[in-house]
This record gives sequence, structure tokens and C-alpha cells, in this order.
Amino acid sequence: MKIKWLALALLTSASMPALANDCALTVEANDKMQFNTKAIEIPKACKSFDVTLKHTGKLPKAAMGHNILVTTDADFKGVSADAIKAGAANDYIKAGDTRIIAHSKMIGGGETTQFSIPVDKIKAGENYTFFCSFPGHAGLMKGTVKLGS
Ligand code: ZN
Repeated sequence: MKIKWLALALLTSASMPALANDCALTVEANDKMQFNTKAIEIPKACKSFDVTLKHTGKLPKAAMGHNILVTTDADFKGVSADAIKAGAANDYIKAGDTRIIAHSKMIGGGETTQFSIPVDKIKAGENYTFFCSFPGHAGLMKGTVKLGS
């Protein structure tokens, strides 16, 4: 009997991580300057949200680099402009820019990287943007981030 109960307990706890799996998302970027998603919705039960960025193209970082930055909609333009000024040597991210809520590193074709979005910084009812800060990319490579239910 005891073994049976233990198995049941294990089954019950094993079903919990199914929710945790929703606290992660893979976003693909390609050589045509596109992300494969326009919207990231973070379940509010998540403490942290893990994003994997996969560059499915072949072009090198210097020609077709991709990253993901997360800011409020209001900060997007300013952060994007400052990122371009920061230049390739800084992977197009202004050092110490506190308007950036989360970001990945810049990668080239065939590479994959991961970063986490701190969910306590994403407020319900506020609008957030994710984008690639490589010069000229944010026009196409941009989408929304919001807190889901
Ligand atoms: Zn890009």
C-alpha cells in the first residue's frame, strides 16, 4: 500500500513541472531579418521566463546579427537609438542601460543563446516590446511582450 501511495504522490508532483515548462519559449530568427513570433505572453505564475533565441540562418553575426532586448513600449525608441550608437564592439547594447529589462547576447547564423526575463518587472496592463538591436533590424524584428493570465 505504501508503495502505491508513493507512486501516486510522485505522479502528482511530476505533473507540476508541466506548468513550469510554459515559463520558457524558443524564438527563432533567420537571415531574412525575421523573428518567428510577434508576441510573447508570459504566464503570470512564472517567476522567471526563459527565452531561447535560435538563429536559423547562415550569415555571420557581423552581417546578420540577432539579439533580443525587452523594454517598455515607451523606452523602445530611445534604447534602440542608443544601442546603435553603442556599436558592434558592444554588440549594439548601451552599457548599463537600465531601461533594458532583459536581453540576450548577439548571435550569428547557426548559433543559439538563452536569457531570462524577470517576471516581477513585467506589469499587467503595461505594454512591452521585444526587438533586435542590430542596426536596421528593429523595424521588422519587433513584437509585443505582455503578462498573460
Ligand atoms: Zn537582428
